[in-house]
Amino acid sequence: MAGKIKAIRGMRDILPPETGRWQAVENAAREAFALYGYRELRLPLIERTELFARSIGADTDIVSKEMYTFPDRHGDSLTLRPEATASVLRAVLENRLDQGAGVKKLYTLGPMFRYERPQKGRYRQFHQINCEALGSDAPELDAEVILLLMEILKRVQLGTSRLLVNSLGCPECQKKFKEGLSLFLSQKQGLCEDCLRRRVTNPLRVLDCKSVHCKEILKDAPVLKDYLCPDCAVHYARVLSLLSRFGVTYEEQPRLVRGLDYYSRTAFEVVAVGLGAQDAVAGGGRYNGLAQELGGPELPAIGFAIGEDRLLEVLPPELGQEKNRKIFLAALGPAARDQAFSLLQTLRREGVPGEMDFGERSLKAQMSLADRLGAAYTVILGDRELETGKATLRRMATGDQQEVSLSLLPMVLAGL
Ligand code: AMP
Repeated sequence: MAGKIKAIRGMRDILPPETGRWQAVENAAREAFALYGYRELRLPLIERTELFARSIGADTDIVSKEMYTFPDRHGDSLTLRPEATASVLRAVLENRLDQGAGVKKLYTLGPMFRYERPQKGRYRQFHQINCEALGSDAPELDAEVILLLMEILKRVQLGTSRLLVNSLGCPECQKKFKEGLSLFLSQKQGLCEDCLRRRVTNPLRVLDCKSVHCKEILKDAPVLKDYLCPDCAVHYARVLSLLSRFGVTYEEQPRLVRGLDYYSRTAFEVVAVGLGAQDAVAGGGRYNGLAQELGGPELPAIGFAIGEDRLLEVLPPELGQEKNRKIFLAALGPAARDQAFSLLQTLRREGVPGEMDFGERSLKAQMSLADRLGAAYTVILGDRELETGKATLRRMATGDQQEVSLSLLPMVLAGL
């Protein structure tokens, strides 16, 4: 016998009833996006490798170690997207969505792929809710984007969490900071091999090294905030003051840099209590220079990504559970089955979810099927019921039964 084929390591099936919780999160996000004026984009999962290499940064973990990259049949190098922002910008520039006045507000939902070591809260195919606002460098937009993120997290009842904020400054501030950091690092012994390289190629990346030893060294490293130019400092202060005005609690996290090279100015992350090592449920920031990096015009922008897999791990189990109104129609004999089939369609027209079995199973078998399908009520219809014009309605949770006239049945069931 041939062996069974299993899903690829780090990739998983998300099955019912768990999918109901995912829908609840996505619906809440869609409602909040609409409230803030965002519209949805649906993008390809595969892009040219160059798009990510150019935008995320060659020296990031994502690009150097984690991308699913392969040649297509033509020999072109393609990559399963490891994140959405680069694709969103590609689509915006390609379709000229950046034209016209005002901030362009876009969101997209879907899977991302990174070849990371799978562990709790870390998958090789994971899912993000992405928000991107393009066309303004105003600090009000930074505040609004963070408020929107917090609105979504509130709507899905995320428990205790912390919002961490930092400013990465503009390229000028970053240049000076990198010099300072580089100098600091050159005086330190014992950096890991990756960091020894990054110290020269891209010192900012040393700040998100996972090695315990490197982290220890970094405790005394210079911080970006001390290198901000006056404009960046004012921008950052304004973002923070707006957050305070709207009652958003934040913590300044001077070493927060995020794992992608394209960020400038505001960077933020939400970490949830109770998630262990992989505790970031959302992260984002400004990426003012990215459009130009991709051959486009100057297009200041800011966005965030919510990690749905992780978020769902900390949300209440009852999320997305609506009142169960499902009806199962247990029919015995051809005439009753025929009648039940019509009733089923009537119920659905009334918006009442219903199911029946098309086989010829016994009442006992049908009742156990009703249980398995999670029906709230079962209607029993047989020859006797057709004769008397009354069906038996059984409440599954308690086993209580009552007789209901067939003519009133649709109305009664619709009102349950
Ligand atoms: P990033 O795109 O790296 O800024 O990540 C944004 C969010 O996506 C993180 O805060 C996580 O919640 C989530 N995320 C990133 N990588 C993974 C992964 N491998 N598995 C599950 N969630 C992830």
